[in-house]
Amino acid sequence: MDLYIKLSDVKEIIRKLSSEPCYQHTGEDFYSGIGAVESELSMLPAVEAEPTRYGTWIHSINQIDETHSYHRWTCSLCGRTVARPNETLIDTLPYCYCGAKMSVEGK
Ligand SMILES: [Zn+2]
Repeated sequence: MDLYIKLSDVKEIIRKLSSEPCYQHTGEDFYSGIGAVESELSMLPAVEAEPTRYGTWIHSINQIDETHSYHRWTCSLCGRTVARPNETLIDTLPYCYCGAKMSVEGK
């Protein structure tokens, strides 16, 4: 799987490094090289992506009456709840509606 980084963060790192004292007396070639690297980075193909957020389904049981109950799962990030007739059906929801990648409490 490819990993993505934020272009503006890479450029900021390059700018910070180029301002460090050990690079201050390296001459025009160094700064020309930094400019070339920044230019090449700007031409890389880009995708729109957001960092993955991770949440947990928190389990509870709602007892309707003596013989009827349902399983209720609450997202640890947004608080949204989903109800399922049995405990295993939560495995069909690997993502919450808020976009978080979910794990199941206790698993
Ligand atoms: Zn959520």
